[in-house]
Formats: sequence, structure tokens, C-alpha cells
Amino acid sequence: MEVLPNLIGGQWCYSAATETVPVMNPSRGEVIADVALGSAADVDLAVQGALKAFPDWAATPPNERAQVMFRLKGLLEAEFESLARGISREHGKTLIEAKGDLRRGIEVVEYACGVPTLMMGESLENIARGIDCHTDRVPLGVVAGICPFNFPALVPMWMWPVALACGNCFVLKPSEKVPLTMQRVAELMRMAGLPDGVFSIVHGGREVVDAILEHPEIKAISFVGSTAVAEQIYRKGCHYGKRVQSAGGAKNFLVILPDADPGPTATALRDSAFGCAGERCMAGSVAVCVGEAGDRVLPGLVDIIQQMKVGPTDGEAQPDMGAVITAAHRDRVNELISLGESKGGKVLADGRGTSVAEAPGGFYVRPTIIDEVDYSNDIATTEIFGPVLSVMRAKTLDEAIAAANRQSYGNGACVFTTSGKAAREFRTRVSAGMVGVNVGVPAPMAYFPFTGWNASFFGDLHMQGKEGVQFYTKQKTTTTRWFSFGEGDIWVKS
Ligand code: NAD
Repeated sequence: MEVLPNLIGGQWCYSAATETVPVMNPSRGEVIADVALGSAADVDLAVQGALKAFPDWAATPPNERAQVMFRLKGLLEAEFESLARGISREHGKTLIEAKGDLRRGIEVVEYACGVPTLMMGESLENIARGIDCHTDRVPLGVVAGICPFNFPALVPMWMWPVALACGNCFVLKPSEKVPLTMQRVAELMRMAGLPDGVFSIVHGGREVVDAILEHPEIKAISFVGSTAVAEQIYRKGCHYGKRVQSAGGAKNFLVILPDADPGPTATALRDSAFGCAGERCMAGSVAVCVGEAGDRVLPGLVDIIQQMKVGPTDGEAQPDMGAVITAAHRDRVNELISLGESKGGKVLADGRGTSVAEAPGGFYVRPTIIDEVDYSNDIATTEIFGPVLSVMRAKTLDEAIAAANRQSYGNGACVFTTSGKAAREFRTRVSAGMVGVNVGVPAPMAYFPFTGWNASFFGDLHMQGKEGVQFYTKQKTTTTRWFSFGEGDIWVKS
């Protein structure tokens, strides 16, 4: 089986590490590649290559760096279909979902094409008589990104397009579960004219992450993954004097008011909870039905999810939902469903023991709904990260907001209603950084920041949008005074 090489100083080269882990096709449970668990030596080689490339890349005019992004955008469009198929194969999500993953990532490349404007500083003339002041945004140097498995294209692309366009060199550690997509995208970057060493890939697990955190020449770290790791990365990165933006897990609450439009609301709940097999940090995880809302929406929801076709995503006939990432994750999701049931939950739709005849080795869990969940049930607060929707009941909007605010995360929260006043009340009082009003997955697009709160984000500046530019640049403020015209004195004065 092919062991994936690292990209260091513009060359594909193999890690000296001998331990490898398999990359699976979750649709079939088959190994499609091996990835080496790299070492601190690999990280150092990548950083040395990046340091060599940095002075010239930082001195390249922003509009020329933008041209590289323009060419890359064209190459990504030309390979859109095959890249999306690759995402489906290594992740298990459907082709439509894979295309969404890539499309959202390309939008960050498009955003990065605006870097000459985005990097502009500020100026003020005459801050004192004859003295002017201006700020420039300058790149940090070598920066690094550490990624989760659930968006093989989008999450790395939250990071490197903006970092590179701002003049930094970037070292990427992809998820060892989905390392193939960025491998191909790195080839396209070279074809787009990105100089050697500006973008590097080091594959691996914890040892590589620790080496990134400890390397003195890495100035900033972007992390996305589970909360336990995100918090640890934030603390350790700060300890080593780095800028860190660290996005963690989520438990997103969907509040349904009795006046919500039942048909579209049921469809939005389906897409929110079961899209990408629930492996989304913006997936709806708990539906809080207020008053009669449960009776109005749940039967329709159960009905439409029973009709969903679950199966392999690597063929021509596409299902509505694919596999989850690994056998271990499938088993964990099944265990959490059983735990929820044992704590009093009533299983309305049961995904345990799912088997798919055409792909018996795949890792499948059908959409699951567990009603009558409350805070005494562990699944009300545990991130499941699979196709499971828990249902709570509340008498009032106040009670529903209190339920949404009681858990520790704060990525997304949604309300379904036809009342503008109720929606406004929810938006202002809910403790989550991304709010949906009749939108089940309120993930912001490239020109907005991805603003997780609470245990869903550690740091100050989020990924994407202007905050991304601020994160990957530092400001230099210059104050200028000229004492005389110099030799010009002769010809300036009459
Ligand atoms: P994970 O935390 O297991 O892994 C993320 C990255 O950290 C991987 O590259 C992995 O190699 C590395 N890693 C894992 N354990 C480590 C350790 N102990 N020390 C150092 N590095 C370690 O996450 P995952 O399972 O790949 O992804 C799913 C998680 O990511 C979910 O919790 C999901 O909510 C979260 N996520 C959050 C966002 C967001 O924006 N908040 C977006 C996508 C995914």
C-alpha cells in the first residue's frame, strides 16, 4: 500500500518514521493508503524549507500573491469533480456533500484573491505638526495548521489561502484519517506557481502536533478538532509564545416553536442533524420542541428520515447519507444511542445495527432520533458527532433558551419560527457564536468569520473573513517626520 510522502521545501519526500496508520474508504471499510506517523525531525525539515522561502514570498507584492490564488482557483475548478470524488472516497460523505465541502473551500481562495485590499493599513496625516502616522499589515513568518477529519477540503482551506495570500509560509498537518485531498491540492498549488517551501505538508499524529507546538520558528497555529485537544493546543501554544486560534467540538441546539412551518422545518432538521452523517461541527444535535411543536414536526421528520437511502458514496448511484469515518466511531455512536436509551430516552428511529448489502464492510449508522431526553441523560451534553438527534421538550421559549445555554459548547444554535420577535429574542439571548433563524446549518461563508464561542473556541481571532487576515498578520506603525527638504531646500523655497 502506498505510504503518503510529506511535502518539504517543494519536494515530495518520505518520513523516516516507520509507524504508519491506514487511510480507509469508510463506504467499504477498505484500506486505500497508508500514512506515516511523522516525527519532530519532519516538522523541523518543513520549517527550515519554509524559512528559506519566507523572505522572498513576504516581499512578493500582494497583487502577485493574489495572482497565484487566481490561478489556483482556476485549477481547482478544472479538477472540481475528481477532487470531490476523492473527498467522498476518503471521508464517506455523499458526492453532493463533498462538492459543498470543496466549494466552500474554494470560496476562501476567492476571498484571498482580494488580499491587496484586505491587507491595507490605516494612516493619519499630521498627528502632530509635520508628523504623519501609518500602519502596515505584515506577515508573521512560518505558521501551521492542524486539521480534523470531517472536512478534508474546507477546514484546511479556512486556513492556508488567507495565510499564504498574506505572505506567510504554511505547514499543514492534515487529519491522518483524510490526508489525500490536500495532497492533490498541494500539486495544484505548485502548478499555480506557488514557490517551493511556501506550503508544506507533514503527515502524522500527536508527535507531529507536539513538534509544531514546540518549534520556536512557528509563529502561529490554527487548530480545528475536538474540544479536549483544542483546549490543550491553545494552552500549550500560548505557553510557547505563539498566536493560537483553536476551534473545538460542539453540541448545537435547534429550538422549534409551535408556530414553525412544519414541512420546511422537518426538512431543515433532517439536513441539519443527518447531513454529512452528523459529522459536522454545525450539525443540529438536540431539538428542543416548545409546546405543540413536537407533535407538529416530529412525525413528518421521522417519516422523511425513514425514506433516506444510506450506502456507499464511491459509486455512480448516490445515497442520501454515507458512512461514518471509522468502525470505532460507528461503535461509539451505537454505544451512545444505547446509553441514551438506558437513561430514559425513547428511540423513535434506530440506526443501531445498520447493514448495507452492497457494502457489507462499510461503517454505517442510519439516522436516529431519541425522544424524551433531558439533562439527566448524558447524551444531552455529550458530542456524538454522528447521525443522532435527541429531542427535549420545553413549555416556553424561555425554557428552551435556558436548555440551549446550559451546556458547555457554543458553536451554533437555531430557532424555527414564523415570529420575528421570538427569533430576535432567541438571537440576542442564546449563548452561541453562530445563530440560524429558520436555517439549520448557519455556517458562515468565506467573507464572515467562523465565530464559535465557549468550549467551541479558544483564542480571540477566528478563522475566515477579516479576522483571518488579522490573525495571520501583525501591524507595524510608522511615525514619520522630515526636518528639512535636504538638498531640495535650494529649489523648494522661492
Ligand atoms: P481530533 O481532535 O481527534 O483530531 C483533530 C486533529 O488533532 C487531528 O489532526 C489529530 O491528528 C490531532 N490530535 C488528535 N488527538 C491529539 C492529541 N491528543 N494531541 C495532539 N493532537 C491530537 O478531531 P477529529 O475527530 O479529527 O474531528 C472531529 C472533531 O472536530 C469534532 O469534535 C468536531 O466538532 C470538531 N470540529 C470543530 C469545528 C469547529 O469549527 N469548531 C470544525 C470541524 C470539526
